[in-house]
Amino acid sequence: MSATEAFPYPIPEFGTEPYWDAANRRELRVQRCLDCGRLRWEPAPLCLDCQSQKHEWTRLSGHGTVYSFTEITHPVHPAAFAKVPYIVVEVELAEQPNLRMLSNLLGTPAAQLQIGAAVDVDFSPHPNGQLLPVFRLSQT
Ligand SMILES: [Zn+2]
Repeated sequence: MSATEAFPYPIPEFGTEPYWDAANRRELRVQRCLDCGRLRWEPAPLCLDCQSQKHEWTRLSGHGTVYSFTEITHPVHPAAFAKVPYIVVEVELAEQPNLRMLSNLLGTPAAQLQIGAAVDVDFSPHPNGQLLPVFRLSQT
């Protein structure tokens, strides 16, 4: 494999198609239980609180805060050679306590990043055309 190989890309399956379709419209959506109202990430076939299978895909603001992050300096895939260092971030989304998702943080070096920093979602294109939700420090 060459260093120019593209990153593996997400294959929408197992009920995640609405998430990826929304990302392609530059929308961040997660599942919301229609019985108890709880938002959940990652997608799941039933609510972890009330076991209901009924849900909808709710659009979120895209605002959140940095819950945790790490800087990846060792490429774990040939496509990552040209990307390191990069930041993997766990973002607590604004709509609900403990609603967190993993993503990448772009545009800020790790040395300038702090736990609790305000972030906003952005959408970064994968070479296959899929837009990937990523985060950047809030500009406001
Ligand atoms: Zn529920």
